[in-house]
Amino acid sequence: TAIIGISVAGLGDIFGQIQKSIGASERVLDILDENDEQSSLQHIPLEGKITFNNVSFIYPTRQDHPVLKELNFSISPGEKIALVGPSGSGKSTITNLLMRFYPVQQGQILVDNIAIQEYNLSGYRQNIGIVPQEVLLFGGSIAENIAYGKPDASIEQIREAARKANALEFIESFPDKFETLVGERGVKLSGGQRQRVAIARAILKDPAILILDEATSSLDAQSEVLVQQALEKLMEGRTTIIIAHRLSTIKKVDRIFVIKEGRLAETGSHAELTQVEGGIYSNLLKLQLQ
Ligand code: ADP
Ligand code: MG
Repeated sequence: TAIIGISVAGLGDIFGQIQKSIGASERVLDILDENDEQSSLQHIPLEGKITFNNVSFIYPTRQDHPVLKELNFSISPGEKIALVGPSGSGKSTITNLLMRFYPVQQGQILVDNIAIQEYNLSGYRQNIGIVPQEVLLFGGSIAENIAYGKPDASIEQIREAARKANALEFIESFPDKFETLVGERGVKLSGGQRQRVAIARAILKDPAILILDEATSSLDAQSEVLVQQALEKLMEGRTTIIIAHRLSTIKKVDRIFVIKEGRLAETGSHAELTQVEGGIYSNLLKLQLQ
């Protein structure tokens, strides 16, 4: 396939640009896997321990601009982490590297104590679910969109995932139910409905690791509650990294990582970090989160 001819660095840029439409980029990325079948570590279910050892990163297109600087942290299986920090501080880059959209240049990222590039790419990504800020669905039925990460899923499994994602009611209100076409030529779903489809997709995939990019613009009030409930169910028992914008979310996580200019500036629970007199987190709270 044509795309394999491009350098890895070039691909990273392409995926950086399209990663907003994570469904679409996953499909593009699958093409890469043809190149990757020699890895011996295929499709193993991971526990979800994440370790960053001295990770530094510069985007290939902006060599003059170091983005991540010697990041060190470890996240236990099942732990919930909120990444908090000003726009441009490097939060999305951390999740981009964990997803292997770009290769690590300096330092190492380990999952379950193994450097992530050692895993077969598609097998590795099977262990990670993403609910992006802006969910873009591909042209096809709702069922196909939910089953994207698990194409062999039965309709019962798809239905159960939709139920857990608080999506069943709106899906079944359409005349064609799960066969309803979405995307450009199909019905237009609201932001909250699209998010619940993405949550159903992640539930069906059943990954050890979750990346949630919290929506900045608020959903309608009813959708908001349903999305929050569904997300909490989804997060149970999974290592979760949330790029968080809401105080209500941040208060619930185990630890907050405050990222500033590509460094880990503060870590701790909400209760701990609010105690830090003149701390970055307590200042952020005053400035942004009220
Ligand atoms: P955050 O998610 O915290 O807002 P990002 O990780 O998106 O921050 O960005 C960190 C820095 O990297 C910013 O200066 C941003 O402009 C830059 N950056 C992000 N994506 C790219 C890219 N694909 N190419 C070049 N620079 C990028
Ligand atoms: Mg971001």
